[in-house]
Amino acid sequence: MLYDLINYFLVLTVLNVLIPTFFARLLHYNVLWKGRAEGKYVVLTFDDGPDPLYTERVLDILDKYQVKACFFLVGEKVLKYPEVARHIVEKGHEIGVHAFRHNLRFILNPLVTRAELIKAYNAIKEITGVSPSYARPPWGCFNPFFYRECKKLGFKVVLWTFMSWDWGKTTAEYIVEKVLSRVKERCILIFHDSGDTPGAYSSAPEVMIKALDMILNRLKSDGYSVKSLNEVC
Ligand SMILES: [Zn+2]
Repeated sequence: MLYDLINYFLVLTVLNVLIPTFFARLLHYNVLWKGRAEGKYVVLTFDDGPDPLYTERVLDILDKYQVKACFFLVGEKVLKYPEVARHIVEKGHEIGVHAFRHNLRFILNPLVTRAELIKAYNAIKEITGVSPSYARPPWGCFNPFFYRECKKLGFKVVLWTFMSWDWGKTTAEYIVEKVLSRVKERCILIFHDSGDTPGAYSSAPEVMIKALDMILNRLKSDGYSVKSLNEVC
């Protein structure tokens, strides 16, 4: 009985998450993973906020370089920290849907997947007045219903060109090296402005913020501009 259950769970996981995630992450099927427009630019994206400790500090860095980003927000945190969510919008940044709760996609059936997306969308709309048009699933893990529901709800699914590995126990120098060694034209960069996500190191954003300053400084001197998703997709 236990063996059957484990088997069932494994098959379900493979069908429900590994295959769609493979198509999305490696083959980039139906997802935006780099800018469509030509040009020497990058796009900045931040996941898992709004965060009471770190989001404002990220906004300050973005102001310092006068650049705009897209923040993929967690619905329940938007309700918990409405002022931070509103401030992101007031500063002129874009908002995307990350999830209502940061949970695993493969255990969600179609109805729950849809309900989660709508709940997150509604929280963002209610608090900020913005209707997001982009979505990114937690951990970049897909189930097949995520695609379908995003399409129905009119969201473009956005991933990233490469991972910055900013969410673990790391150093600013490591993140800077990871990003600058791989960056090229039209990259969509991903960072995390909250450390309370399962799997993340709680003070990781502290390190990321330091790295972000160095990365933006270097990208500027290397002639890169920073564009918003709306400008290049
Ligand atoms: Zn996330």
